[in-house]
Amino acid sequence: PGIPRDARIFVTGHRGMVGSALARRFEAAGFTNLLAATRQEVDLRDQAAVDRWFDTHRPQYVVHAAGTVGGIQANRTRPAEFLYDNLMIHATVLRAAWRTEVEKLLYLGSSCVYPRDCPQPMREEYLLTGPMEPTNDAYAIAKIAGVKSCQAYRKQYGCHFIAAMPTNLYGPNDNFDPVNSHVVAGLVRKFHEAKESGGEAVTLWGTGAPRRELMFVDDVADGCLFLLENYDDEAPINVGTGEDVTIVELAETVRDVVFPEARVEFDPSMPDGPPRKLLDVSRLHALGWRHQIALAEGLRTTYDWFKEKYPMTK
Ligand code: GDP
Repeated sequence: PGIPRDARIFVTGHRGMVGSALARRFEAAGFTNLLAATRQEVDLRDQAAVDRWFDTHRPQYVVHAAGTVGGIQANRTRPAEFLYDNLMIHATVLRAAWRTEVEKLLYLGSSCVYPRDCPQPMREEYLLTGPMEPTNDAYAIAKIAGVKSCQAYRKQYGCHFIAAMPTNLYGPNDNFDPVNSHVVAGLVRKFHEAKESGGEAVTLWGTGAPRRELMFVDDVADGCLFLLENYDDEAPINVGTGEDVTIVELAETVRDVVFPEARVEFDPSMPDGPPRKLLDVSRLHALGWRHQIALAEGLRTTYDWFKEKYPMTK
């Protein structure tokens, strides 16, 4: 525990939803030496560029939140990109962190790494016990390679690399693209546009039956700081709320926040993805950490952010 507040901490992907939340959380905790690199400064897929950056800036801690990400439709249609980008980004950053003797690295995995028909809630040890969900297997394989890399660097070199496995996340700085977004951002945008255009019906994907666990991104940032200071084990650790809702229930909650008069319809020709993705968070709870922000509250904060930014994200 107790990372010095002047330690050099490199948050990768600091412009993204998770990276920006991490930067906010670390600043609030009093860290004064946060390091960041834009895509123009360093292409994280390029080992030579990443090595140069680490040699110059010498981070002592790394929180690795960068990645090529997207919702079910982006994953399904761009598997080559998702596999290549993420494999490369994880390989270069972890290797550079080992080579420059970073004191501790936290890698962000994902709940989509667990098998499609995983027993619920999903415990950390269920990793690689069954076939993958086909709509995002490229992304998941790259993410699993990252988890395994953390373990390999620990085993071979004694690096303090840990893997946190966050559940489905949402919040400010999410990607609100109508096709590529995850479900919460997609729904916020659809309900908002229906309200603006005087429409009534909002059409969502799939059957509405799948269950998803959703965590506000400020909670995951807080959990990551907690783990960086309190966890050092080769076993990955789930970061979630331990609660889930159906897509229908989620849609109704978003509707109530954004456009209560809307009527919700579903297009079952669009994919559902896995039937359920609920993390078992007993390992994290046993360490004394739990999330703080309820779904309705997180959605209101997200919608307030979206309303302010929307003209620019269109
Ligand atoms: P997943 O958790 O990896 O399946 O990814 P998503 O967050 O993209 O989707 C979660 C669930 O929400 C899936 O069952 C989708 O079919 C459903 N869904 C319903 N409407 C939408 C939408 O407008 N956008 C997205 N991304 N998903 C939607």
